[in-house]
Amino acid sequence: MQTRTYTFILLLLLLSGCNHQIHQQQFYIFGTLVGISIWGVSEQKASEAINTIAKDFQSMHHNWHAWQKSPLTDLNQAIAAGQVWTEPSLLPLLKKSKHLYNQSDGLFNPAIGQLIKLWGFHSDDLSSEFIPPSPEKIAELVALAPSMEDIHSEGNQIYSTNRGVQLDFGAFAKGYAVDLAIEKLRQLGVQNAIINAGGNLKAIGKKGDKPWLIGIRHPNGTDILAAVAVSGEESVISSGNYERFREYEGVRYSHIIDPRNGKPAQGFSSVTVIARSGALADAASTALTVAGLQDWHRIARQMGIKYVMLVDEKGIVYVNPAMAKRVQFPADKKPQIIVSKPL
Ligand code: ADP
Ligand code: MG
Repeated sequence: MQTRTYTFILLLLLLSGCNHQIHQQQFYIFGTLVGISIWGVSEQKASEAINTIAKDFQSMHHNWHAWQKSPLTDLNQAIAAGQVWTEPSLLPLLKKSKHLYNQSDGLFNPAIGQLIKLWGFHSDDLSSEFIPPSPEKIAELVALAPSMEDIHSEGNQIYSTNRGVQLDFGAFAKGYAVDLAIEKLRQLGVQNAIINAGGNLKAIGKKGDKPWLIGIRHPNGTDILAAVAVSGEESVISSGNYERFREYEGVRYSHIIDPRNGKPAQGFSSVTVIARSGALADAASTALTVAGLQDWHRIARQMGIKYVMLVDEKGIVYVNPAMAKRVQFPADKKPQIIVSKPL
C-alpha cells in the first residue's frame, strides 16, 4: 500500500516536473531573432502557442513592411498620390502612433519615411555601399514637415493632408507586436512567458517562483551591460545604433533620425525603457534617443515613463533613481553611472 502511494507521488512529481519546464524556441522574423520562453504549461500547449505567435508575427511583418509591397506601402503610395485609401487593418496602428507622436513632441515621428529611406535604411543589407545624402536633399524633405497630425481617418478610409508623409513603423512595430503576442498567449492560457524580438521584450508572470532575469545588451553589440529582474507584465525595450547603422569614411550614422533636422540622432548609443506597454516603451526609446542629453528627462516625463537607462557614446550610463534601484551591473565591469533627478 505504502509503496503504491510512493509510486503515485513520484509519478505526480515527475508529471508536474514535465508540466513546469521551460519551453523555448527562436525564429527569424522582422529582420531579427525572435525568442519565446514559456513556463508552466505542457509541452504541447507551449508548442501550439509558439506556432500561433510565429504565424501572427509573420503576418504583422508582412502587413507593416515599409519597403516591400505590403498594405502599408499601398497606403504610402496612395498618400503620395493624394488619394484616399481603405485599409482597416492599419487603423489601430495609426491611432496609437499619433498619440505617441504627440506625447513625444514629434520626436517619435513615423511619418518621416522619406527621410529614413534617404539615409539608406529601407534595406535589409546595410553593408552595401553608402554615401550620405546631400544637405539640400535633407533640407527639402525636412521642409515638407511630415507629421502624424497630417493623417486622418473617416470610418475605414485613411488620407493625408500632406503628400510628403510616408509612414514607417520601424520604431514601434516590434514593441506593439510583443504587446499583441503577449495578449494572444494569455488568451491561449499561458500565464508566464517572455517574448523577445531582437531586444524588444515583454514578459508576463514569473519563471517558477523567481522573476524573469533580463539581460540588457551593451552598445558594443556583444557584451551584457546590465541585468534587470521583471515579473508581472512589463516590457523592456532597447533602441540603439549598434545593430542597424550606415558607415561612411569612418563615421557611423544611426538608423534613428531626428525629424527636426533630418539627420541621424547623435549622443546616445543605446536607450532602454521599461514600461508595461511595449508600444509605448518602443516609441519612447526612439524618442529619447532623439531628445538627447538635454531633453530626455522632459520627454520621458511627458510620455509617462518611469524607468530609463541611457548610454552615451563614451559609455557613460544615465539612469533615473527608480531604474538605478533595479539594474544590476556585473561587478567587474561597472560603468560610470550618473543618476538623474526622479522622473
Ligand atoms: P530598433 O529597431 O533597434 O528597436 P527603434 O525602435 O529606435 O530601434 O527603431 C528605429 C527605426 O524606426 C528606424 O529603422 C526607422 O525605420 C524608424 N525611425 C527612425 N527615426 C525615427 C523617428 N524619429 N521616429 C519614428 N521612427 C523612426
Ligand atoms: Mg523604438
